[in-house]
Amino acid sequence: MSGGTQAMTGHPSGALVFYSAFDDFDTWKNALHACLPSLRILHASEVTDPAGIHYALAWKPPAGFFDSMRNLRLIINLGAGVDALVGRKDLPANVPITRITDPDMARMMAGYVLFATLRHAREIPWFEQAQRRGEWAYRHPRSPRDIRVGVLGLGELGAHAAHELQRQGLTVLGWSRSPREIPGVRCHAGMDALDTVIAQSDILVIMLPLTPQTHGLLGRERLERLPRGASLINVARGALVDQAAMTALLRDGHIGAATLDVFTHEPLPADDPLWRMENVLITPHLASVAIPASAATQIAGNILRVARGEAPLHEIDPSRGY
Ligand code: NDP
Repeated sequence: MSGGTQAMTGHPSGALVFYSAFDDFDTWKNALHACLPSLRILHASEVTDPAGIHYALAWKPPAGFFDSMRNLRLIINLGAGVDALVGRKDLPANVPITRITDPDMARMMAGYVLFATLRHAREIPWFEQAQRRGEWAYRHPRSPRDIRVGVLGLGELGAHAAHELQRQGLTVLGWSRSPREIPGVRCHAGMDALDTVIAQSDILVIMLPLTPQTHGLLGRERLERLPRGASLINVARGALVDQAAMTALLRDGHIGAATLDVFTHEPLPADDPLWRMENVLITPHLASVAIPASAATQIAGNILRVARGEAPLHEIDPSRGY
């Protein structure tokens, strides 16, 4: 289903409202229109009759956005992480919430994680530093099998990334809340197993949702359980990690290097010491994004399900936070 849209049969009633400060309305409108030609699609700024809105496709809308939409039937989070949505006060009761669940988004995330992991596995940051000193600094590469990669979070994105990592011959450990099975990945579940996974990770990849249970999960004590010199990759949410403790451990070498796409405060403030650390690679929260052409198929499918009176697929559980 990836890489293209196709018209679907069915006539959803009402209109869809779109809001995102990051995504292009016309691109999304065209992609959705190709799937659901009869659906009225409005930008939030065009809405004159909030009661006629049955579907909302939104990323971080302003407070009160949903207040007057009293006939909403489905909220679609324009992204995978729903942490900014689930705690809102203006969410109507009993309206299902879904998120983007799209193979192209998982592929894009796995690409970033592969790049970052292999960069650490092949010690590229160390060679970059040697190059800046004009030094031919030979270091014999390690066998992929001898490099242990821990993946925290084995959901839509995490499971795909773990699968791609084990395809590289790396030793991959996974961690989730409920038991999972991924061929070639040593899967662990539950809080009791977390410290074991961390202690065995030469490279730790964070791919958990931000929820009340995972907020601050990687505090100083847990980060200190990493083998000395381990690398850290965070593509999930900054608040999962104690950023001050992580910075201190990067400074003293306990954490050897990090690739960080997410931060406690975004944009990362200009005076943050992480910007100037040689062993840190910073990207501005773009490890993966929703891709209209492929995601529209999933969104349209769910709109039609709801229009037929069925539950949407991939519904999130607000009480669980993801
Ligand atoms: P999912 O919701 O599909 O999966 C979440 C995974 O985390 C599941 O394996 C779940 O366990 C596990 N988990 C949740 N809570 C706990 C807990 N308390 N203890 C142990 N495991 C837990 O998420 P995705 O894979 O789709 O995405 C992960 C996160 O990536 C998103 O929430 C978002 O924050 C971030 N993201 C970042 C992007 C970026 O550009 N940087 C882009 C897109 C997403 P179980 O399997 O048992 O349910």
